[in-house]
Amino acid sequence: MITVAYLGLGSNLGERKQNLLSAVAALKGLNGLSQVRLSQVIETAAVGGPVQGDFLNAVVECHCTISALQLLADIKDIERQLKRQRMGKDHPRTIDIDILLFGDEIHESAELTVPHPRMHQRDFVMRPLAEFLPEYCANATANI
Ligand code: AMP
Repeated sequence: MITVAYLGLGSNLGERKQNLLSAVAALKGLNGLSQVRLSQVIETAAVGGPVQGDFLNAVVECHCTISALQLLADIKDIERQLKRQRMGKDHPRTIDIDILLFGDEIHESAELTVPHPRMHQRDFVMRPLAEFLPEYCANATANI
């Protein structure tokens, strides 16, 4: 069974564009992922945390035959490979990858919350996501 998933990508440290492209390349190399498509890349101001550089953000659409939890584990591996340094919540990062939507599945644990709880308030998610899901984004934004 194929599930269409949407991932949010962000980088505000180092070679930001290259970090996003490296993450996409790594996603394309995962077992159980196909049809990996990248949205436009947008530049946005950081939300919360200490004073820090602007982000490049984008959304990836992909077809998955793996589970949401397996995808989460694979994403964490990619973040480690790209040397994400964890300095604390909302601090600068070489790469951040979140699962925004995983088909119509709902997950509500600390390990995995999907749909991503804050995505509808985040312009830097909704703008690139709207390329793939214009109606979903228009409805979601209207309901905030
Ligand atoms: P962050 O520092 O924002 O990347 O958060 C990472 C943590 O959030 C990880 O420990 C994940 O298990 C957890 N998490 C919960 N829901 C999600 C989600 N939808 N996508 C990615 N990470 C998630």
